Amino acid sequence: MCGIVGYVGKKKALPILLEGIKNLEYRGYDSAGLAIIESSGIFAEKAVGRVSNLESRVKNTSSHGSLGIIHSRWATHGSPTEVNAHPHTDCKSRFFLVHNGIIENYGALKNALISNGHVFVSETDTEVLAHLIEEASHDGRVVLEDAVCKTLLRVKGTYGLAIIDAKDPGKLIAARNFSPLIVGVGRGEYFVASDASAILRHTRRVIYLNDGEVAVLTPKSRRIFNLQKKSVRHHSEKIEWRTEAVQKGGFPHFMLKEIFEEPDALLNSIRGRIDMKRGIAVLGGLTGIKEKLTNIRRIIISGMGTAYLAGLLGKYIIEELTDIPVEAELASEFRHRKYIFQKNEAAVFISQSGETADTLAALQKAKKHELLTLGVVNVVGSTIARETDAGVYQHIGPEVSVASTKAFLSQVIILTLFAIALGRERKTVSAKDARKIFLEMKKLPKAIQSILNMNEAIKEIAKKYAPYRNFLYLGRGYNLPAAHEGALKLKEISYVHAEGMAAGEMKHGPIAMIDEQFPTIFIAPKDSVYEKNISNIKEIKARNKSPTM
Ligand code: GLU
Repeated sequence: MCGIVGYVGKKKALPILLEGIKNLEYRGYDSAGLAIIESSGIFAEKAVGRVSNLESRVKNTSSHGSLGIIHSRWATHGSPTEVNAHPHTDCKSRFFLVHNGIIENYGALKNALISNGHVFVSETDTEVLAHLIEEASHDGRVVLEDAVCKTLLRVKGTYGLAIIDAKDPGKLIAARNFSPLIVGVGRGEYFVASDASAILRHTRRVIYLNDGEVAVLTPKSRRIFNLQKKSVRHHSEKIEWRTEAVQKGGFPHFMLKEIFEEPDALLNSIRGRIDMKRGIAVLGGLTGIKEKLTNIRRIIISGMGTAYLAGLLGKYIIEELTDIPVEAELASEFRHRKYIFQKNEAAVFISQSGETADTLAALQKAKKHELLTLGVVNVVGSTIARETDAGVYQHIGPEVSVASTKAFLSQVIILTLFAIALGRERKTVSAKDARKIFLEMKKLPKAIQSILNMNEAIKEIAKKYAPYRNFLYLGRGYNLPAAHEGALKLKEISYVHAEGMAAGEMKHGPIAMIDEQFPTIFIAPKDSVYEKNISNIKEIKARNKSPTM
């Protein structure tokens, strides 16, 4: 999910790789590493933290190689350590590769490889790829691209990959499946990058690889084919954007970019976690505490801001699907106020960064009272991820914007999976019901995309309402937390006063505030409380002429 750059040509690879990966720093990452083929063998280096750490490690080396790969990692499997940083290699340190994405079936593959005698050094899912290529290459009797295709046919998951072979020093391989990867076309040189901004200084001619495609690049040639080795024709395209615009994916700011990443974020949070056949949610991070979860009598969900609101929605969902009472608590309250604890309680802490100060303090309090603690966190190896007994990672890539968007949806979907997992264990959810919910979940990315496609129409509506200074957001049930979240986003982004409120609460006072200068936004889908919402809308329209939407 983070950065990849690869180079094959006549120039020295090292400065090109370093400069390229620095152009991807804006995406956020936790460690970095590179591998270059030299006449004397492979030169590889890794460092935790900033690219500048890696740079200072390599600055006194005289690397002359002109084939290499570099990576900035956003950990998904295994904490951000030097050993877990990419590139990863096989037992004989022959094949080196960098990877963005997640190998879903890495557990089974790793076990099989270990029983065949392979030795693993990292905790990553990525390392299986290097060992699989080693097996498929039969000591170099099978050419690299064939070994790669054979490997990728065994793999389930997402990948952007750049691969080199110490014994095949003129060839760079790229492969892609649901992770972005492009080939940059230069004169007598080729580039690979997860994002065009990494290579724009060298070329604006790029080829967008499709999912399931592999590219074999040498300084003078390129071949692209699918995993069955069937050739695919590609023409290069010219990128016209400025570097700055490319970094934000062509969007004017990160928040908008991340809103448009929502369909992908949801897919990534769901991927590999739905077992349709058995009607169960597979949350690998919770397997170690399965036993303890069966005895849980109450759950406290805690977080701040948007994460708290995801927790509030989680409360509704878990209570609907299980027999467990749930409290949603602002971490800043939970940490300071007297709380009446009982036996067999679990606390779930939600934080995109895994470092939110109040949430961390609330976690410490829960630990002190010996609650079973769980985390829903995006940043692997973050404090909350480390300090909780177990948890579920969001897998949505970095969220740069301070106003959270894609993380909220992902947190809600993970809490839904959690509710199904609990419900199936406690027999409050049947396999049939779980499947029904899964089917709806799978439709969500497309449904969100169809809303994003209305971007222009939404802009027009925003223009109409831009002059107003006060807004009320109303909803009931699942849409109450959504109403709060809508109001929070409007306050945070537009500096406009907005309140989220239960629609039923409106006539008990707040309606007095509403007039033609105070628009009300109702979240009123056709659900069990639709008619109630319609009555509220009529009340507001009749008495106060508030513009409603
Ligand atoms: N899943 C891989 C890891 O955890 C790749 C992470 C990335 O996309 O940066 O190492």
